[in-house]
Amino acid sequence: MKKIKAISLIVFIATFVLILTGCSSSKNDAKKSIHVTSSVNFYGEVAKNVLGKYGKVTSIINNPNIDPHDFNPASSDAKNVYQANLVIYNGLGYDSWAQKLLSSNKNVDSINVGSLMGKKTGDNPHIWYNVATMEKLANELAAKFAKLQPSHKKDFENNSKAYIAKLKVLNTQLADIKKNKINKPVAVSEPVFDYSLTNMGYTVADKSFEEATEKDNDPSPKSIREIQNDIKDHKLAFFVYNKQVNSKTVTNLVKLAKQNNVPVVSVTETRPSDEPTYISWMQNQYKEIQAIQNK
Ligand SMILES: [Zn+2]
Repeated sequence: MKKIKAISLIVFIATFVLILTGCSSSKNDAKKSIHVTSSVNFYGEVAKNVLGKYGKVTSIINNPNIDPHDFNPASSDAKNVYQANLVIYNGLGYDSWAQKLLSSNKNVDSINVGSLMGKKTGDNPHIWYNVATMEKLANELAAKFAKLQPSHKKDFENNSKAYIAKLKVLNTQLADIKKNKINKPVAVSEPVFDYSLTNMGYTVADKSFEEATEKDNDPSPKSIREIQNDIKDHKLAFFVYNKQVNSKTVTNLVKLAKQNNVPVVSVTETRPSDEPTYISWMQNQYKEIQAIQNK
């Protein structure tokens, strides 16, 4: 009886030690490598800059031909979410699929960029068009990475500072645009570019049109007529449209604007493949407006 007890005690201790070493070794592995999964590539880019060589970043939506508004994740995408130590998603209903995947795995830490920026559902979700979002995300990532790899805290902070310094060219460009702003409102095909327009000091004339297109509704004939009249009467500084979206109404408005010498600015929802970085992407779009203002 005693012997059996002793043996079972040894087995018990051995198992306990195994469990302990098993736990600690997996914990060490988790500390060694950071795996970030981002719903969209422009946030993945911030993560890559802040993380540097201390882990890897996977962006799920990487293809400019995919409309993030109606994206459905594959099982490989779900795997990327579950295997990450940190998931970045936009929130504000933009990538609710990521939120759904996260809700079934509560162990994965995440950053909801919309919440980070103090936004709530119903607000314009295209917050990456506000440079301040990228700055705040860089700092938040440095803090999260420092918790996962405390020995590299300084590296993450320095990387974040360096990335924020790189973003300065955009703020300089925006300030220049604001200084030379045309004293007229603008019209837009959808709200994708609105945060940048606000930072440039421009107001949007056609709120009901942009809201309809964003919600996939047909804009009312009245709201179309209003833009058409604003174009014909030269009441607009320029017309902004998303060239990734195919819409006959918008194509006709672009045509009308060109016929009436109203400048047209083309933007995209996600980073096009010929733009290497978020910064170059924004810079080139902002340049279109600088060219209009310098005419
Ligand atoms: Zn959009």
